[in-house]
Amino acid sequence: MQYDHILIRYGEMALKGKNIRSFIIKLQENLQAKLKDFPNVKVKRTQGRMFILLNGHAPDPIIAICQKVFGIQSLSLAIKVENDLDKIKEAALYALKQGENIEKFKMSVKRINKGFPHGSQEMNQILGTHLLVNTEDITVDVHQPDMEIKVEIRAEATYITSQNLPGAGGLPVGTSGKSLLLLSGGIDSPVAGYLAMKRGVQLEAIHFHSPPYTSERAKQKVLDLAKKLTDYGKSVTVHIVPFTKLQQEIFREMPDSYAMTIMRRMMFRIAESVCEKENILSLTTGENLGQVASQTMESMHTINEVTNYPIIRPLISMDKQEVIDISHKIGTYDISILPYEDCCTIFVPKAPKTKPRKDKVNHYESAYDFSETIQEAINGIETIKITPKTGESNFEDLF
Ligand code: ATP
Ligand code: MG
Repeated sequence: MQYDHILIRYGEMALKGKNIRSFIIKLQENLQAKLKDFPNVKVKRTQGRMFILLNGHAPDPIIAICQKVFGIQSLSLAIKVENDLDKIKEAALYALKQGENIEKFKMSVKRINKGFPHGSQEMNQILGTHLLVNTEDITVDVHQPDMEIKVEIRAEATYITSQNLPGAGGLPVGTSGKSLLLLSGGIDSPVAGYLAMKRGVQLEAIHFHSPPYTSERAKQKVLDLAKKLTDYGKSVTVHIVPFTKLQQEIFREMPDSYAMTIMRRMMFRIAESVCEKENILSLTTGENLGQVASQTMESMHTINEVTNYPIIRPLISMDKQEVIDISHKIGTYDISILPYEDCCTIFVPKAPKTKPRKDKVNHYESAYDFSETIQEAINGIETIKITPKTGESNFEDLF
């Protein structure tokens, strides 16, 4: 007898009505992709639950992977037995004996298969008695047990579990469409990407890079951040935009106090053109209300004017510390704090307008033709696909 399955509970997905089937299929696909290095593992879906058949693989590394897959509320190691009373008794006893320092236990039987001859309550008593008779110094405590042994009698088999591990929650990546993440090397944007993925969004990323003011290492840092994000989903394609010439032109031709606003508008314009080409329907940023000059209400209003795309801003209401806590949890913090230059920190106006006006910015922009330089930046985009396993691969030029 051994734990040979992992039982997966869907959580919020179960509320998705008619879409439930496609959500479950997507979760199954995502799990299969993440577990492809375990050749004997099988992922099976049923209406209410998903099961991973371990087929001899050690459970711990597989559990660790599953805990990063969105769409899972909780998971448990499980023993699968036939719907046979003696087998169920044996498995329940095995589960109890696997626990350490257990003094009090509780039985929780759920009979989903009404064809099974004993009801849930009756089974609680039968199994509880069996465990008491076959152990010493262990008692039943339904209020504060050290271990709750759950038994699910389903149509095809019975599953016995004894611990509930938290899943990552959220929705399976790929069930909410695609978004283009504006990924800097900072703390915020990778966290924003993670939170968008948690809602089922599949990401591509765009990074504005200004060589020689920003180095190869600064670019590598962004690719490393994108790689971390692939832990939680599929590959992330990163579009690297050569931004130097456009930035220089902005800072040369536009009033200093409006340069940052105009630079941000250029970022959105270029990001939108990538979305159009890649058939992506939204942008995601790490913007947060009130942190810096570009993130006042007036500033967002003026910058946002250049695009009709919905902008997902998962961090909008968070305190910095909350964002930092998430970045630690997902492993991006240590990469984000590496001290490499960012295009926005190199070109910093002395006194950026914190309340830039739309009419003024349009007036300034109309006095100079940036279109050729914008097109040049778009033409120079380098596209790098970051896959969960092999890191950087599949170089291809986009335009
Ligand atoms: P972050 O920590 O993500 O860098 P921030 O607090 O530094 O954010 P800003 O510099 O105002 O804030 O940037 C706001 C958002 O604009 C970022 O979260 C990111 O989504 C986007 N952004 C900024 N710089 C770049 C860049 N070089 N390439 C791509 N996106 C960028
Ligand atoms: Mg930044």
